[in-house]
Amino acid sequence: MRRTGPLAPDHNCIVCGAFGRVALGIRARTADTNAVWAPNLDAYLCDEHAVKGCVIEIVYHPADDGRVRVQTAGPRRTVQTVLVIGSGVKEIPGQERLC
Ligand SMILES: [Zn+2]
Repeated sequence: MRRTGPLAPDHNCIVCGAFGRVALGIRARTADTNAVWAPNLDAYLCDEHAVKGCVIEIVYHPADDGRVRVQTAGPRRTVQTVLVIGSGVKEIPGQERLC
């Protein structure tokens, strides 16, 4: 399903800006591989940059509001994603609902 509106991601490669069809994601999982959370990051790579190799840095900042916030930064663009844990619902970064 293609989302539209303010949460619809564009598909520009975060490295070069060309159309990207490879979506990045991140996941926290248990030993049996069940995901605790696994947002798609609304960040994309073109076919070329998806296979060229990369370096990823993960810096984990704990929070207590039941959300996973991810900032994905590439040379060309930065994408923010906010997921409400346990709901599968994404929120617009900076406009999260008050709990
Ligand atoms: Zn690219």
